[in-house]
Amino acid sequence: MAETTRPARRGLMLILSSPSGAGKSTLTRNLCQRETNIDLSVSVTTRERRPSEIDSVHYRFIDRDTFEALRDHDDLLEWAEVHGNCYGTPRKPVEAALARGRDVLFDIDWQGTMQIVEKAREDVVTIFILPPSMAELRSRLVRRAEDAQEVIAKRLANARSEIARWEKYDYVIVNDDLNDAYDSIKAILTAERLKRSRAIGLADFVETLLDEAMP
Ligand code: ADP
Ligand code: 5GP
Repeated sequence: MAETTRPARRGLMLILSSPSGAGKSTLTRNLCQRETNIDLSVSVTTRERRPSEIDSVHYRFIDRDTFEALRDHDDLLEWAEVHGNCYGTPRKPVEAALARGRDVLFDIDWQGTMQIVEKAREDVVTIFILPPSMAELRSRLVRRAEDAQEVIAKRLANARSEIARWEKYDYVIVNDDLNDAYDSIKAILTAERLKRSRAIGLADFVETLLDEAMP
């Protein structure tokens, strides 16, 4: 089929959540590097920047007053307090990307996921990433070596209540082998992009197809 005759589709919002350290940032980063037509939503946060993080690339690092002003002006599509810090998704870049027919990828927690699902269920696909074991989760947080010991302890203490949300998600992936987990996400994205309900002008396309003279 020629590219020009393929029906267009609505953009989708792909959300990845997991307990801290299960690997969702690594997976979202890989997806954005290797995939075309998907934009990463860059969140705002009041948490301290980690040594490896770049402002406006990994997050926009802001203070609490600025965060509250954005929230109160309805500039955030969703927001939540996680591990004692505030995080939120700026609304405008998401709306602009979707309007351009692009997909948007989110690395956000279950609270934010539920808020977006409530607003746009038909356009949202949610994936929960599980670690292969709690021992491995701990060692990934330690190996990442970006957070202080007490921050790691807090994140591990919160992991159980975050994992308990797994049933709210459309898909669940155990991130044991990184390549396998990546391939699973890619397969989900490919299938979800092909959903009939996302296609625009499919009925017209089929009509034209049926009107075509038989060769
Ligand atoms: P999260 O964003 O969920 O907090 P990260 O993506 O930062 O987690 O991953 C935590 C650490 O675990 C990082 O050092 C990352 O390189 C490592 N990691 C991620 N996935 C795997 C995997 N499948 N096997 C081994 N290490 C992994
Ligand atoms: P981290 O501090 O490790 O980068 O993120 C901590 C948690 O906050 C993770 O579960 C991450 O997915 C989540 N998070 C990051 N950005 C947002 C956001 O904009 N909104 C919500 N609700 N959670 C976020």
